[in-house]
Amino acid sequence: MHMGLGLIVTKMSNIQAIRGMNDILPEESIRWIRFESIVMDWLHSYGYQNIRTPILEKTELFVRSIGEVTDIVEKEMYTFIDSLSLDSLALRPEGTASCVRAVLEHHLLRQAPQRLYYMGPMFRHERPQKGRYRQFHQVGVEAIGFAGPDIDVEHLLMISRLWRLLGLEGIRLEINSLGSSDERIEYRKKLIAYFEKNLSVLDEEAQRRLYTNPLRILDSKNSQMQEMINRAPRLIDVLGKESQSHFSLMCENLEACQVPYAVNPRLVRGLDYYNLTVFEWVTDQLGSQGTVCAGGRYDALLAQIGGQSSPACGFALGIERILSLLSRDFGGKLEPDVYFVNVGTSAQFHANIIAEKVRDAGFSVILHAGEGAMKTQMKKANASGAAFALILGEEEVERELVGVKALRLDVAQQTLPLDAALAWMRACPRSGDKLSGDE
Ligand code: ATP
Ligand code: MG
Repeated sequence: MHMGLGLIVTKMSNIQAIRGMNDILPEESIRWIRFESIVMDWLHSYGYQNIRTPILEKTELFVRSIGEVTDIVEKEMYTFIDSLSLDSLALRPEGTASCVRAVLEHHLLRQAPQRLYYMGPMFRHERPQKGRYRQFHQVGVEAIGFAGPDIDVEHLLMISRLWRLLGLEGIRLEINSLGSSDERIEYRKKLIAYFEKNLSVLDEEAQRRLYTNPLRILDSKNSQMQEMINRAPRLIDVLGKESQSHFSLMCENLEACQVPYAVNPRLVRGLDYYNLTVFEWVTDQLGSQGTVCAGGRYDALLAQIGGQSSPACGFALGIERILSLLSRDFGGKLEPDVYFVNVGTSAQFHANIIAEKVRDAGFSVILHAGEGAMKTQMKKANASGAAFALILGEEEVERELVGVKALRLDVAQQTLPLDAALAWMRACPRSGDKLSGDE
C-alpha cells in the first residue's frame, strides 16, 4: 500500500475547503471583477505599475521585515520546511516584503524610484470570523525611493479618491507619526517604565512583550488594557524636529487638499517596519474588523532586508472588508447579448461556426450546448438574460438564414441572412441594460 504522504484514507468522505479560506462563487466573483477593474484604472491614473511576486517566500524575509515579536511572525504565518531544499518557506502574510525583495533583486531603483501595486491572496493563521480570514486578499501599493511627505499625501489622496469612486462614505482617516528609530529608542524607555508601573494590568502577551517589543502593547485589542494604554506616554509628544516637520507638512498638505483626518497617538500598526507616517482608514460598519486600509512609511526596510537603503511608503486595502461595504448588486450582472438556439443535427453542426461569426461582430454569445426541443431552449434563452435569441433549425440551415428574436421587446421574430440579422440586432432599441454589442 502506498503511504508516502503519511495519509491513511479510511472512507470516502466529502472534501471541503480549508477553514478560513473561501470559495468565491460566480455571483460574488463578478463583484470582485468590477472592484478590481475600478482599482486598476484608479492606480494607473496615478502612474502606478503592476508587479507580481510569488506567493511563497523564504520565511526569513518576513521575519526580518515584519519583525520577530509581532502577531504575524509569532503566530499567524503558514510556514513549512521544503522537503527538497530544507529551506523554511512561508505563504506570504502580506505583500510589502515580497515587493521590496523583488525591487532590490532586480535593481529597479537603478532606473528610477518606483510606484508599484499588486493584488492577490495573503495568508494568516488567525481565528476566522466575519472580515477576518486565513486566506484573504489585499491590494498593495508601494512607492519606493521617495522620501516624502509629498508622496505620503499622494497615497492618502489616492485612497480618498478610491472611496469616492466606489461610492463609499463614512471611512475615517487616522494618522500618527512613529518618528525615527532613535526617537523610538528613547520613547521605548519611557514606555517600559510606564508599563512597569502598571504591571498588574498587563495581560500575558503584553508582559511577554514588555522588554522585546513594548510598542506592540499599544496595538493590543484587549479591552481591559485600553484605559491604561490611553494614559501611556505618547510618541508624538517626543518627536524630534525633523520628524515633526515631516508630520506637520503632511498634515498641512492634507488640509489644503481637504482630506479630513484625526491624529491617533496610539496608532502603531502591527508590523515593525514602519517609521514616521502611519495611518489607518476605519469604518464603524464592520464591528471590530473596521480597518479597511492601512499603511505608512518604511524607510529602514530596504536596508533591513539586506539591500541598498532607500526611503519608501505604502499601504494595503483589505478587499473582503471593502466588498462587504458595497451593495449586493455592485458587480451588476453578466448577461450575454445573444442566446443561440439550435435544433436538429445539422443546425447543431453549424451553430458553432455561426456563433463565432456573431462574436466576430462584437456580440457576446451563449451557445446552447446539448440537444433539446425548441421550447426548452427558448426557455433557457429567456432565463439567460440575453437581449436576443438567434434561432437555427434545419430549415434555416437549408435556406442559409437565421431566426432572430428580441427577447425583451414586443417585436415580431425575423428570419434573415446572418449579416442582416446582425444589422437588425444593432438597430434594435435596447430595453434597460447596455450591451457590449453596442460598443
Ligand atoms: P487587523 O488589526 O484587523 O488584524 P492588521 O493590522 O493585521 O489588521 P494589515 O497587516 O495592516 O492588517 O493589513 C492591511 C489590511 O488587510 C487590514 O486593514 C485589513 O483590511 C486587511 N486584513 C488584514 N488581515 C486580514 C484578515 N485576516 N482577513 C481579512 N482581511 C484582513
Ligand atoms: Mg492582524
